[in-house]
Amino acid sequence: MAYDQTATEVKPPVLGKGAGVQPTLAARLDAELRDAHPLTILRRAYETFGDKLALVSSFGAESAVLLHLASQVSKDIPVLFLDTGMLFGQTLDYRKQLAAKLGLTDVRDLRPAFADLAVTDPKSDLWRTDTDACCHIRKVLPLDRALGEFDAWTTGRKRFHGGDRLRLAVVEQAEGQIKFNPLANWGKAELEAYVAEHDLPAHPLVAQGFPSVGCWPCTKAVDDPNADVRAGRWAGQDKTECGIHVARAPGVAPTVGEGI
Ligand code: SF4
Repeated sequence: MAYDQTATEVKPPVLGKGAGVQPTLAARLDAELRDAHPLTILRRAYETFGDKLALVSSFGAESAVLLHLASQVSKDIPVLFLDTGMLFGQTLDYRKQLAAKLGLTDVRDLRPAFADLAVTDPKSDLWRTDTDACCHIRKVLPLDRALGEFDAWTTGRKRFHGGDRLRLAVVEQAEGQIKFNPLANWGKAELEAYVAEHDLPAHPLVAQGFPSVGCWPCTKAVDDPNADVRAGRWAGQDKTECGIHVARAPGVAPTVGEGI
């Protein structure tokens, strides 16, 4: 399902029933789940939030594991996919193939607002001069708009990716919503074992040397097998994240990490 967006204004996230106590709830859930199996974490998230829980996926190099786990909890979990308009064709094919294989019934293709593109990036070349602004209109704003109807969401971030993600909690508070990171504790070995056990298809670009896959202008293949998983993302720039995991409301502590 495609969600073409025309509004330029972003509605603030709708706070859940327990919005006033969510910091406590996030801390309690994190204490309960910090050493739990990812499937246990996802089940608990779904029990707690039901249809107010979304999963955000890039359908990238490591996305199959979280999507497969989620499909065991419910095939109807809304999966938010940021179709920035700058993705590799292989990613769009993989998104269709994987969603069909896993039986996911509610994958939502989130696209940038036409008005934002017309005003800010009419030639689709903003990435050449201002990657933060480009990510803002193509990722941050579309996701903010889509998350407005949810109280909690799930990401595929992992601590082994390093950087700020070394401090990643399994459950965290994020601007009136709760964010679950079920794979925070898993390393490369666990991910590879899970993929093998369930015979999950790989993103086609992994075999071409892309350990992480984002938009085509900002993703490169990586030759060095010892390089960070995300070494090919915004290579040569200070930028390491697209902004969707950075707190934007005044007074809210930033969350850490990148990657969906
Ligand atoms: S990753 Fe690059 S092309 Fe994609 S939204 Fe960000 S700056 Fe734009």
